Amino acid sequence: MRIDVVSLFPDFVRQCAAVGVVGRAQQRELLQVEAWNPRDYAIDRHRSVDSSSYGGGPGMVMMIEPLRTTLAAMRAAAPEAVHLIYLSPQGTRLTQGRVEALAKLPRIGLLCGRYEGVDERLLAHEVDEELSIGDYVLSGGELAAAVIIDAVGRLQDGALNDAQSAEQDSFSDGLLDCPHYGKPVHHALGDVPEVLLSGDHAAIARWRLKQSLGRTWLRRPDLLSQCWLDAESRALLEE
Ligand code: SAM
Repeated sequence: MRIDVVSLFPDFVRQCAAVGVVGRAQQRELLQVEAWNPRDYAIDRHRSVDSSSYGGGPGMVMMIEPLRTTLAAMRAAAPEAVHLIYLSPQGTRLTQGRVEALAKLPRIGLLCGRYEGVDERLLAHEVDEELSIGDYVLSGGELAAAVIIDAVGRLQDGALNDAQSAEQDSFSDGLLDCPHYGKPVHHALGDVPEVLLSGDHAAIARWRLKQSLGRTWLRRPDLLSQCWLDAESRALLEE
């Protein structure tokens, strides 16, 4: 998969994509992240990318032309069509389901706004989708782009050392994940639940499912209304 990011801070984006699971996915050539700086496509000697906003008021707007030229260069850099996403607090809220769908695309583009945002005319003509990472306002789209790169990158086949770990994560089956315990078994802060030491795989699976259900009920009851347990899980609970 290829992800192209348009940002005034390309080095930040590159650094985010160079570490951890996503960095490893790039090394394994499962993912390619490229960053494009609109300032490189500005036409005046000040390399301007923003202008004041018509109608008055504070704040600048990212101008059409530098972005349009950047996007054209970005689109031409590889043969695959780009699904272009504008990161915006006004966009549809990002979910794990949307992340899973994006992870299956061959190529996405992420347009990061700054200032008051991007000229509306460019958004109307170039952007396929607007996504928000939550109901709060960031000063730029780069952190939101990093969130998408990470969430999508870790789902590329072979990115995680154990593919099962993504399947067990929160939201993948509609529930929150169960609690996890590592060494040591006994500690002043508490002991590892006995069932996890029993070696009884069915009992462990049942315990984990009950923990997931309980946590979801307590912390995110809204998720339960959209969640259907598969036959295997229902059978496990009936045992
Ligand atoms: N004037 C805009 C508004 O109120 O909708 C906010 C602009 S914000 C200061 C600058 C940029 O940060 C936006 O263009 C967008 O790219 C990014 N941004 C801010 N909050 C975001 C969020 N919750 N999700 C995704 N991107 C966000």
